[in-house]
Amino acid sequence: MVLFMGKNFVLEKKLFLPVAEPDIGLLEEQYLLEAFRSGWISSLGNYIERFEVEFAEFCGTSYAIAVCNGTAALHLALLAGGIKAGDEVIVPALTFAATAAAVRHCGATPVFVESEPDIGTLDPKSVESAISPKTKAIIAVHLYGHPADMDNILRIARKHNLLVIEDAAEAHGAKYKGRPIGSLGDMAIFSFYGNKIVTTGEGGMVVTNQPEFHERVRFYKDHAMDPKRRYWHPEVGFNYRMTNLQAAIGCAQLKRFDELLSWRKQIVAYYRDEFRDIVEIAFNPSKDWADPVPWMVCCLLPDGTEQEKRDQLMEWLKRADVDSRPYFHLLCDMPPYASCKRIDASGKDLPVARKLSARGINLPILRRLTRKDVTRIRNELEGWIKLQSKI
Ligand SMILES: *Cc1c(COP(=O)(O)O)cnc(C)c1O
Repeated sequence: MVLFMGKNFVLEKKLFLPVAEPDIGLLEEQYLLEAFRSGWISSLGNYIERFEVEFAEFCGTSYAIAVCNGTAALHLALLAGGIKAGDEVIVPALTFAATAAAVRHCGATPVFVESEPDIGTLDPKSVESAISPKTKAIIAVHLYGHPADMDNILRIARKHNLLVIEDAAEAHGAKYKGRPIGSLGDMAIFSFYGNKIVTTGEGGMVVTNQPEFHERVRFYKDHAMDPKRRYWHPEVGFNYRMTNLQAAIGCAQLKRFDELLSWRKQIVAYYRDEFRDIVEIAFNPSKDWADPVPWMVCCLLPDGTEQEKRDQLMEWLKRADVDSRPYFHLLCDMPPYASCKRIDASGKDLPVARKLSARGINLPILRRLTRKDVTRIRNELEGWIKLQSKI
């Protein structure tokens, strides 16, 4: 309840814990002001180039191309890879809508595949089952900061001559068998939306080691202008540019990356510790071959938890001023994708992804979150569990 008396209002506001908020501070402010005062507020300027160079270094790739958001980055990567109408692109059913939307933006068709247990990334066996003569590419999503099983996905892709794009929008700085994600596929994309690990407000990046892809992405990003002939456009392009102001914020975020990651890890450690006695609930499960990054606090409710129950818990938490969000819904259940193929090596209707989607919940991950806040969240969750056993 919000009371319209100044004091109470402030108290109520302070109590509310959102799921996420950007961690931006003095360095971001300094770089942003520098960019602003230089007059280079549009999409040319020193910070754009610097952000691209530093981001490529961060991923261990030869090239990085800054763009206006992660969805545009995906669209450009697919265009650069030659994806067009009639092609099929394999994507996980359990991911954010942008992964499949970008495929549609190219006129191509997404084919949805099953998840791996616990981590939810695309299941290589299902990927192999999903390959048809029309398949041209695989988008490997590093879901909630956990890397997909890239070696197996790449092996299948090489065998069938398919393009591999990493959707690393949620996984800045994660590693797969010691190698930075973003450097493993043919291209990778990142998002810098406000709730991502590195943010520029809105923003995105395509990274690659291959000069042809780099050239194609740059070409389509900026109106498909012929690099050798100004104002000559041999194809229809896009305006997917990032501004120098956004890049300035991005440079500051990259400089502070270790800090951004370490508090996130600390928060997940608080959750794990607070919930150590409730063994049915797992937090951010991971494989031993992965160094995941906690984009979100991934709380998996007891196996078999129905979606309806999970949603009731979210209501319960909301009443206690604790924000939460459900795991992604399966994209193939949504109207635009209802007629798309869904492939599961076991011949079922994506039971693993479906169960994960129903029992997964994201809890607050904020720099200002204290151990006490996490204790409070634990108590709320425990109260709900107790209520369940009484019913
Ligand atoms: C956030 C996100 C995107 C797209 O990012 P925008 O910057 O919001 O366009 C793409 N894929 C995944 C998996 C994401 O989480």
